[in-house]
Amino acid sequence: PVRVRFCPSPTGNPHVGLVRTALFNWAFARHHGGTLVFRIEDTDAARDSEDSYNQLLDSMRWLGFDWDEGPEVGGPHAPYRQSQRMDIYKDVADRLLAGGYAYHCYCTTEELDTRRDAARAAGKPSGYDGHCRELSPEQIAAYEAEGRTSIVRFRMPDEALTFTDLVRGELTFQPENVPDYGIVRANGAPLYTLVNPVDDALMEITHVLRGEDLLSSTPRQLALYKALIELGIAKGTPAFGHLPYVMGEGNKKLSKRDPQASLNLYRERGFLPEGLLNYLSLLGWSIAEDRDIFSIEEMVAAFDIKDVNANPARFDLKKCEHINAEHIRKMDVKAFTEACGPWLKAPFAPWAPEAFDADRFATIAPHAQTRVTVLSDITANVDFLFLDQPATDEASWTKAMKEGSDALLATARAKLADAEWNADALKNAVLTAGEEHGLKLGKAQAPVRVAVTGRTIGLPLFESLEILGRERTIARIDAALA
Ligand code: GLU
Repeated sequence: PVRVRFCPSPTGNPHVGLVRTALFNWAFARHHGGTLVFRIEDTDAARDSEDSYNQLLDSMRWLGFDWDEGPEVGGPHAPYRQSQRMDIYKDVADRLLAGGYAYHCYCTTEELDTRRDAARAAGKPSGYDGHCRELSPEQIAAYEAEGRTSIVRFRMPDEALTFTDLVRGELTFQPENVPDYGIVRANGAPLYTLVNPVDDALMEITHVLRGEDLLSSTPRQLALYKALIELGIAKGTPAFGHLPYVMGEGNKKLSKRDPQASLNLYRERGFLPEGLLNYLSLLGWSIAEDRDIFSIEEMVAAFDIKDVNANPARFDLKKCEHINAEHIRKMDVKAFTEACGPWLKAPFAPWAPEAFDADRFATIAPHAQTRVTVLSDITANVDFLFLDQPATDEASWTKAMKEGSDALLATARAKLADAEWNADALKNAVLTAGEEHGLKLGKAQAPVRVAVTGRTIGLPLFESLEILGRERTIARIDAALA
């Protein structure tokens, strides 16, 4: 049976790279009817926080992910927070030491630096040189007497390591590039290099799907796995697949600190989880050559890790927005109306709740649904309907109110005042007013729009006027003319 894991460290705002990893693991698990384990890698007390942990869970729930084992749901391998599993790691480290798979290393940082610099200068591999690999009991005693502390280092095999990556195919690592590495700090704290594969082993993970940035730890983990199998701790070795890098602005790796990378930003702007996940699935994967828009269920049905592309994927905000807009168009209007809720309240809509009217919003919602890219767009698009005076955006005003606008507005006012109050008739009124001034509809409606809504762009104008009503429309044009 397939068992995959999503195992972030709670170190701040979740970012889109992390969400992509979660998505691929989730889709893989669901596609294969497997188990998704959600594990919290919170062994770094200095960087992890309870706040980030809560945010992480909240984010996963918002995205619509579920997990079969992990926080809140429990499972046979509980606890799923590494900070609560310290005894396990201590025990495994002791067994690795006892079995000779790991050893104490007494080298100081200065010694390591000096030797590294010398190796570099000589053009030799500059990783750990194995200095403490075979210390005699006397040497150890001498170091201890000096008061030195030691870290625990894993002993890497001296031969090349080859494995078949699910995304990249066969990869080989030469031993000089993968030196012995630390697994426990001098203060006894176990490192990611130990706890991550140990938990993968104990939780019987069958497939590790994670970012390419972790590829360099894979040969180390494979070697550690071999030891864990020999010690009877692991049953087998998982398959590994490394998801491609996500590139941001200027073709640089999208970093956690990049504002574009923050999941919260997408939530605040009112992306739909479906839209965001649809877009993120395209970072390294595609459902079909000419198809960008699909549901999460369709992704699950089609997802095959073998189709993931090893080439870096470019994060394209415009495309992300476009895909989100398509998902907004597809909602049923009731769901859309409800989803707009938060943006029709303070603090997003400072005029709410005094001026907000749900029935009025219901009349404009179908038109808004055809125009907004993200839900937060709704606020500025509908405020004209709730405010006594339209928002006056200086730039829009100057742009639309050119010479001759007053004359046109006066004609339009007269025609609108006499028109039947429905969108078609209103359009006709502005059209004929424009004709009298030698203006096409597009040019003629701009000053009307600004006078009535305060902005040059917005929802379909004549439907908006119909909903706003004759009295308020005329009053706003009069105010603009005054
Ligand atoms: N906690 C690690 C991280 O967030 C997990 C890496 C892995 O998937 O092995 O980077």
